[in-house]
Parts: sequence; structure tokens; C-alpha cells
Amino acid sequence: MTCLFCRIAAGQIPASIVHEDDRLVAFNDITPQAPMHVLIVPREHIQTLNDLTPARDGLVGEMVRLAATLAAVRGYAGQGFRTVFNCNADAGQSVFHVHLHVLAGRRLAWPPG
Ligand code: 5GP
Ligand code: ZN
Repeated sequence: MTCLFCRIAAGQIPASIVHEDDRLVAFNDITPQAPMHVLIVPREHIQTLNDLTPARDGLVGEMVRLAATLAAVRGYAGQGFRTVFNCNADAGQSVFHVHLHVLAGRRLAWPPG
């Protein structure tokens, strides 16, 4: 298995896990860009958002809902949080296993760079 996030999901590479279930794993980003910076990944290897199919709609919904739940647990529901999926080169995707960034705990600039 060569994919970094598949290996983290399988427990083969250590990470600071904040949530696990049979379909999703969430862990702290190794280079956090905000006081809360969690990555939510499906256990299933999906390279980019371009590889989604209708069969994955439920999975993506679970990812977004988990983002809101984790932000709420940390007390950021009211103050706000940001969710980001980067897809391919122009967006800066560096790990080719779909992941949802969840950022919170500081004022986040908009538009993004
Ligand atoms: P992307 O740039 O693909 O949207 O986001 C990849 C994210 O994965 C980056 O924010 C990066 O800091 C994070 N990352 C890269 N390698 C590791 C790692 O080994 N462990 C953890 N926890 N995060 C990683
Ligand atoms: Zn993978």
C-alpha cells in the first residue's frame, strides 16, 4: 500500500486520530494552518473529487456532516469553521486520496490565495 492516507487509515503510519468509524477516519494535519486543522478521509481510496460517482454521494455527505460535528465538539459551531477539498494541481492537492480539511479557531481570510 503506497498511499499515505490509506496507510494512516490502516494504522500503518501514526497520526493523531480524532475520529474513526467503519467508513471514515479523521486526524490532525501534521502542519496545522489554524488551531483546529483536521483532515477527514474515507477509508476507501479515492484519488480526487474527479473520481466521485453517485455511489459515493452518501460518503461525501458523511464527511461534511462529520466536519460540522467535530467543529461543534471543539466549540466552533457558532464562531465558524471552514471546509476545503483541494482537487489537483491548481488547488494545491498534494496527497491524492480525497480529504476534507476542517479549519477553525482563527479568522480565516477570504478569498483564498
Ligand atoms: P492537500 O494539500 O493535498 O489538500 O492537503 C494535504 C494535507 O496533508 C496537508 O495539509 C499536509 O500538511 C497534510 N499531511 C501531509 N503529510 C501528512 C502526514 O504524514 N500526516 C498528517 N497528519 N498530515 C499530513
Ligand atoms: Zn489512499
